[in-house]
Amino acid sequence: MRPDRARRTRPAWAAAGLLLAGPLQAELPPDRPIPGGVARIDLATEERPEQVRYADDEVLLHRDGAHWQAVVGIDLDAEPGQHGLTVDGKRHTFTVAPFEYETQRLTIDEEAMVSPSGETLARIRAEQREIRAAYRSQAVEAEPRLDLHPPVDDAPVSGPFGVKRYINSEPRSPHSGLDLAAPTGTPVEAAAAGEVVETGDYYFNGKTALIDHGSGLITMYCHMDEITVARGDRVARGEAIGTVGATGRATGAHLHLSVILNGNPVDPELFL
Ligand SMILES: [Zn+2]
Repeated sequence: MRPDRARRTRPAWAAAGLLLAGPLQAELPPDRPIPGGVARIDLATEERPEQVRYADDEVLLHRDGAHWQAVVGIDLDAEPGQHGLTVDGKRHTFTVAPFEYETQRLTIDEEAMVSPSGETLARIRAEQREIRAAYRSQAVEAEPRLDLHPPVDDAPVSGPFGVKRYINSEPRSPHSGLDLAAPTGTPVEAAAAGEVVETGDYYFNGKTALIDHGSGLITMYCHMDEITVARGDRVARGEAIGTVGATGRATGAHLHLSVILNGNPVDPELFL
């Protein structure tokens, strides 16, 4: 079967979550090929490809019935249109559909948090480099579960993923995670088994831990009150890693959860 043809027979992303629901499919994020979403691409092969890359990053592979499928995280800044995977050296295209996320306006009084000084900017840049490096961690070799454990119990969403933010009327980068409202001290649990690959007390993200689950799936937990794990610790799915807090730039106690797939933060709600 030609790859083009295999793709055309798949349902549109909007209906995929409903149509594909089943015991196996329930473990997978729905096919949602939009900026900040996840594309599930039928590679039309019964043999596991050696290497599948998207924008230089290795992509997570999943066996879907007889065929292998690429599960690709798409950058929030991605341009809608044709995108390409390299499957054992051959190009395989897929389409990223446009999507408009909501706009949110915030007011933050603390000037230092809105317009940091030169010295602080240098600190922020160094921290961002450290966090970005952890996004591409390859510390764990595993095929992780893709139905994630909710890191805080029964917490309502206080800030959805992808929202375009304006702070004191200035445009800021879009929200690259999911905010879950919970009181300070609420346990934060690992979304899947893995290894803690970075922790820090960052200017914006506050007390933060990043866990590598293998195959390019990373989760990040921010604004914690306390971190109870250290870099290099192995954690089980559902194991406590710290508590909810309001450290860093936070307007109140909540957990910011980011889910990173092949280096790109994607909508955590697709995995929960
Ligand atoms: Zn957040």
